[in-house]
Amino acid sequence: MMASVDRLQHNLRNVRERIDAAARAAGRDPAEVRVLAVSKTRPAADIRALAALGQREFAENRVQELTGKVADLAADPGGPELRWHLVGQLQRNKAGAVCRIGAVVHSVDRLPLVAALDRAAQQAQRPLDAFVQVDLGGPPGRDGTRGGAPPDDVPALADAVAEMAGLRLLGLMAVAPRNADPAPAFARLAELAARVRADHPGSRELSAGMSADLEAAVTAGATVVRVGTALFGPRVLSSEPDV
Ligand SMILES: *Cc1c(COP(=O)(O)O)cnc(C)c1O
Repeated sequence: MMASVDRLQHNLRNVRERIDAAARAAGRDPAEVRVLAVSKTRPAADIRALAALGQREFAENRVQELTGKVADLAADPGGPELRWHLVGQLQRNKAGAVCRIGAVVHSVDRLPLVAALDRAAQQAQRPLDAFVQVDLGGPPGRDGTRGGAPPDDVPALADAVAEMAGLRLLGLMAVAPRNADPAPAFARLAELAARVRADHPGSRELSAGMSADLEAAVTAGATVVRVGTALFGPRVLSSEPDV
C-alpha cells in the first residue's frame, strides 16, 4: 500500500531535522549530509511521491528490484532525474545490469567484484561510483550474511577500486552491528575512512547511518545516511532476506 503524501512529507522533514540537529551538535555543516531514501519493498508510487517532494536519491538492496524500479520510473514523462544506489550484496554476474543503469554501488567487498565491475563499467562506457563496504562485526543478517570486507582488507580493496579506469572510489560504507551501541563502531569506521582518504583524497564520502542510528553516524562524519523506515514507515513483512 502506498504511504500518504502528508505522511511522507512529515517523515522527510523529520529525518532532515534529525540530521541537521546531529550535524550542528557535532560542529558540522548540515549541508554536508545527504539523505538516501532506501525504497526496497516499497511501491514505485512511494518513490514518485517522495521525488515530487524533492528527494532525488533512492536505494535498493536487490538488483532485480532496482532495475525494475528504474525502468518503471524512467517511463514517467517529464519526471525528475533520479540518482539510484545499490546497498545490498552484489553478485559478479549482475555487475553489467548495475553499470548499465549508472547506479552507485555501496557494497564492494571483495577483489573479484572490483574486477567484474570495472569490466562492466568499461563495457557500458560509463564510470561507476563505488563505496567499499566494511564489516563492523555483530551477528549476521537474516539471510546469514552480514556484508562487507573485514577492516584489515579495506585499504587494499580501496586501492584496487581507485586503480581501476572504470571505477571511482567515493569512500566507505557500513552498517552498524545490531543490538549494540553504534557509536564505537562508527568511530572505528571513521578512523578507517580517514586512512583511506589519506591515500585517495577523492574518496570524501562516508555512507553510514540508518533510521535508528543516523545521529551517531552523522556525529562520526557520515555524508550519506541511508534511510528506509523513518521515511516510508515499517516495511511490509516478507520472506525476503534483509539486513
Ligand atoms: C534497508 C537498509 C537500510 C535502511 O534501513 P532502515 O532501518 O529502514 O532505515 C540502510 N542500509 C542498508 C544496507 C539497508 O539494507
